[in-house]
Amino acid sequence: MAKKETNRPPVISVLGHVDHGKTSLLDYIRKTNVAAGESGGITQHIGAYQAEHQGRLLTLIDTPGHEAFSAMRERGGQAADLAILVVAADDGVMPQTRESLEHINKAKAPFVVAVNKIDLPNANIEQIKAQLAQEGVLVEGYGGNVPIAPVSAKTGQGITELLDLLLLMADLEQLPADPKGQLSALVIESSLDAHKGPLATVLVKNGTLKLGDTLQLDEGGKPSKVKALLDWRGQRLEEAGPSTPVQVLGFAQVPPVGALISHEGVHLAAAKTKTATVQTEVHLLLLVKADVAGTLEAIVGNLGGEVELIGQGVGTIYESDVLLAQFTGARIIAFRVKVSSQAESLAEKEAVLIKSYQLIHELLDDIQQQI
Ligand code: GDP
Repeated sequence: MAKKETNRPPVISVLGHVDHGKTSLLDYIRKTNVAAGESGGITQHIGAYQAEHQGRLLTLIDTPGHEAFSAMRERGGQAADLAILVVAADDGVMPQTRESLEHINKAKAPFVVAVNKIDLPNANIEQIKAQLAQEGVLVEGYGGNVPIAPVSAKTGQGITELLDLLLLMADLEQLPADPKGQLSALVIESSLDAHKGPLATVLVKNGTLKLGDTLQLDEGGKPSKVKALLDWRGQRLEEAGPSTPVQVLGFAQVPPVGALISHEGVHLAAAKTKTATVQTEVHLLLLVKADVAGTLEAIVGNLGGEVELIGQGVGTIYESDVLLAQFTGARIIAFRVKVSSQAESLAEKEAVLIKSYQLIHELLDDIQQQI
């Protein structure tokens, strides 16, 4: 098989307790690590930016806040490949540190602990290592292998080493993407601008987003034509490839954070092959897998007439499920079951939506809203 895939830059999220220095860290990296000659440009906040280190790019999601992180996660998309957990050296593990850890664990994202504010006289790194151990996080040199980087977002101390670490972690992850493949992009920020209309920052996961492309959201709605693409410096782009954050103008409606974007017709065309009728609106096609047979029955029995079930089963979601969903244009519902990592990457690559649920009523509410 010809190798079309290339490694894309890692996408990194920054999480941690309020005031521990997430914004300062992102600002420091943005100031010091933009590619030479570009630092003079106008910057605009679009929710993500790209830094350069060792001649390689890193994409940093610049919306510190757990809501965005979990919104994306719950909607089936995972924006970040890696996470930085920021813990202030003078304050230690706090409630939102724990909350961040929960998000990181749910997302199964590899992470590095950045112990920030080490310039302060009362910084106590050893105490933080012990506190983290109590949370089940064993850092390097403390009985575990979670990387830890002491930094100061104020003086810049340790930040080069932090970026080195992130690139190393990205290499271990291997992050393939095919710029010529099917487009899949994730909305990481959106708003309505009085002059420009709906604005959205999207992160391209696979394929290439181009000016003039017609896009559709996974949740339906009117197709949208890309009128302009702007990068985080406010510069116009003709196209954006994998791991590139880009602001898109031209959406017909404000797309919700976490929505997945593909080229128009990708799902619809597939759905038509299955139903063999030309429909302007496709009703919901689902593939449902649950942890036990009884639960599966309860879910299937309550789906309602508008839902077409193209598959059901008990246990883990595998690549074969994703392929079936892709072929038929269905979404996958994972109720208290795991998604194999191969299935997860295939779903991302092919823009197949997998939604995971723990509660039946949440699942049924969601399905009802989408009809
Ligand atoms: P966030 O809420 O996590 O985004 O935290 P901020 O980046 O807003 O930082 C909170 C406060 O800590 C601000 O007053 C920063 O100036 C300060 N701060 C951030 N990083 C450092 C650091 O490395 N050293 C010191 N001394 N102060 C810092």
